[in-house]
Order: sequence, then structure tokens, then C-alpha cells
Amino acid sequence: MAEILVLGAGMAGVAAALSLNARGHEVTLLDRRAPGQETSFGNAGVIQAEAHEPYAMPRGATLLGYALGQSNDVAVHLPSVPPMLTALWQYFRNSAPNRHAQISNTYSQLIARAVLDHSKLISAADAGALLRQTGLGEIYTKARDLDRAAAAAQSFARRYGLAVDVTDGTALRTEEAALLQPPAGAILWRDSWSCSDPGALVQAYATLFQARGGTIQTAQIRALLPTAAGWQVLTEGDTFEGEHVVVALGAWSPQILRPLGYKIPMVMKRGYHSHFAHPHPLTRPYVLMDQGVVLSSMQQGLRITSGAHLVGLDGPARFGQLDAGYHAAQALFDLGDELPDNRWQGTRPCLPGMLPLVGPASRHQGLWFDFGHGHQGFTLGPTTAELLAEHLEGAPSPLARALAPRG
Ligand SMILES: Cc1cc2nc3c(=O)[nH]c(=O)nc-3n(C[C@H](O)[C@H](O)[C@H](O)COP(=O)(O)OP(=O)(O)OC[C@H]3O[C@@H](n4cnc5c(N)ncnc54)[C@H](O)[C@@H]3O)c2cc1C
Repeated sequence: MAEILVLGAGMAGVAAALSLNARGHEVTLLDRRAPGQETSFGNAGVIQAEAHEPYAMPRGATLLGYALGQSNDVAVHLPSVPPMLTALWQYFRNSAPNRHAQISNTYSQLIARAVLDHSKLISAADAGALLRQTGLGEIYTKARDLDRAAAAAQSFARRYGLAVDVTDGTALRTEEAALLQPPAGAILWRDSWSCSDPGALVQAYATLFQARGGTIQTAQIRALLPTAAGWQVLTEGDTFEGEHVVVALGAWSPQILRPLGYKIPMVMKRGYHSHFAHPHPLTRPYVLMDQGVVLSSMQQGLRITSGAHLVGLDGPARFGQLDAGYHAAQALFDLGDELPDNRWQGTRPCLPGMLPLVGPASRHQGLWFDFGHGHQGFTLGPTTAELLAEHLEGAPSPLARALAPRG
């Protein structure tokens, strides 16, 4: 069986290592940090069974509002825009309704199996205590917005076979002791799961991988070199060799592939989080729809995660979206005090085609991609891992082929 190096121990890489190991391959997982310490650590922890369509770039007035900084969903660091222009332009074009519908057709097939793919790993890793099967809520403060969204949600739910309920604010208050006053209401997506410590779930999967004979090495990766027998991975200190190498480095994937001739445009959507003492844990995560923030009870406290800040990987931190979300949330929920020294940032690796790139690189034998999971990488890691493994075994399904890199 092949010897495979998997680069990156986030949700994507750890799940890929598990899928390949399960097929009998000898797999070594490399990361500069312990598993699940970057983007897969600080996200909102929702396994988004409801997210059958990826986020399109809005058009018209909504896009203008984003550009003018009128929405808390998106903020833009202007000096980061020129290096992202190609990616943003392709994202805009792919967001046209017809193209978005085609992309959603593939995306929906990924999302439809995500809970099942996770659930197999959750039981094998004995990690059930980290999961809640209580759905995801979307909170609306204005009745008019709720009515409009409820009609759209019901039609979306019919299209994709999802369970959805619309509840008024008074009924929601009976479920959530933390609510100080009833909002207009909420849309409850019943099929979604959530995790009380996303980094710990990745670590639990990594522990399972090691228990099944896999190897994890800590190493700062510098470069990838093709050799006659396969690949060399140069790190600070050691050199690792494998017949195959899988790039699962999330937002850092394009930079490691650039010297090999792959120019991969990526929209870097950074998010932030902070934790609050919150005396009354929430039964499920909630998106505050006016603010684009998610509130979720975690082992560390109530986590508030922000929307998208378009900024390069090394660009400056801007906590304004998080603060605005916090102020709005505070009017509705008993959040308690902010915990000290726990502000975090991480980058959603968003490809302009809104689908992850999974499969064989187009110009090198034995080089494989598994990155670009965007807003739903915590959800999709185990699913793309299985599709990658199908490719590597030489029998990709039509869904696996739909994600394969081209050009
Ligand atoms: C605020 C926020 C909220 C989110 N909420 C959700 C959610 O609720 N549900 C959901 O499904 N998704 C969510 N996401 C998206 C999700 O977190 C990402 O899509 C996912 O974590 C990406 O996983 P990954 O394994 O590709 O990347 P990462 O988790 O970032 O892993 C990449 C790994 O590569 C390693 N690495 C990089 N460069 C090197 C190098 N040179 N040498 C060695 N190692 C290296 C890093 O250390 C890291 O461990 C959210 C994201 C954010 C920012």
C-alpha cells in the first residue's frame, strides 16, 4: 500500500488521514501545531446539515452596502483587495444565479451526507459527548424580516428535504433561559448538529488515527519537491518522503503550491471569536441575522463568532464586527462578562468556485488537493476525505470527479 504524507492537521487533513488509513495506506500527518489548532479550532462548531447552498457574493444594493461598510456581515481591508481581485472577480461571476444553482447541485450532495460521515467518526472516536443534535437557530429581531425569511426557509426546506420550524420569540424564551427579552422569532433548522469544542473533536479524530496506526509529526513545512519515487516535504529540520502527498493546509494551501506552478485564487474570509461567562448555556447555536454573528455554548464559555473580514493572512486584526455583534447580542441575551485574553482569529479558505478542491493535481503525479472548504470545512472535512480516498484508490464517483482540480 502507498505511503502518503498528509500536510495539515485541521478538520480536512485529519479526516483525510483517517480515510486513507482506513483503506490500508501508511499515512503520516504533518502540522506545525497540534491537530485542530487553527481555523478548525475557533469556528462556530456547527455541522451544517442545512447549508445546501454555498454563500454567493451578493449583487446590487446588498453588495454596495457591503462595500460601504453598512453591514456587519462583511468588512473589507482595502489594501488586501488588489491581491484578491482575481479571486473576487471569479467569485462574483460564479455567484450569478444560473452558475450558483449548478454549484449548489454539487454542494448539496456534499452537505447531504456530512452528518452521516461525521457520525461514523464520532462513534469510532467515542466523541459523542462533544456533540449536540439540537439544530441551528436563526434569530430575527424584526417581525417583517422573520416573515419574509420564514417563507424562503420553508421553500428551501422542501427543496432539500430538511426539517425546519418557525417559532415566535415568546416560545423561544421558554427554551432559552439566557434570553432577556423575546426577539420577533427564530427559524430552527432541526437537522444540524453542533459541537461544544471543535478543536477537541479534531483532536479526538487525530487520536483515533494514531490508535489505528497512523503517525503524526510536528513540523513547519517549507516546500514540496517532486522526486523520481514520489515527493519530498522539506520542513525546518527534517525531510519527509512519500509516494503521495495530500495538501490540506486550509488557507495556507495556495502559498505552498505556488512554487510548483499552481496559481490558486482564494478569497480570505477571516473571522474572529471571543468567549463570555454566560450563566445560562444555550440549547443550540444561534445566528443573529441582523449582525452576521453566531452564538454558541462551548466548553470555554459562550462563543461569539463574527462574519467575514476580507483581509490577507498577515493583515491587521479588526475586532469591530465582533464588538458590534456583542453589543447587539447583549441586548437580547444574558452573556455575562467577556473572558480575558481569549480573542481569536482564523481564516475561512474560500475558493471562488465555492466548492473545495479535492482530488489529483492536474500537472503532477502523486500530488493531491483537499482544501478550500470555505464556510463549511468543519462540516465537510470527513466527506471530502472519503471523496479524496475514492480518487486515490482509482475509483472516483461522479461527486468526487466534480471536485477534482482542473488546469
Ligand atoms: C469564525 C468562523 C466560524 C466558522 N464556523 C463554521 C461552522 O460553524 N461550521 C463549519 O462547517 N465551518 C465553519 N467555519 C469554517 C471552518 O472552520 C473551516 O472551513 C475549516 O476549519 C477549514 O479546515 P482546514 O483543515 O482546511 O484548515 P485548518 O483548520 O486551518 O487547518 C490547516 C492546518 O495547516 C497547518 N499549516 C498551515 N501551514 C503550515 C505549514 N507551513 N507547516 C505546517 N503546518 C501548516 C495549520 O497549522 C493548520 O493546522 C468557520 C470559520 C470561521 C473563521
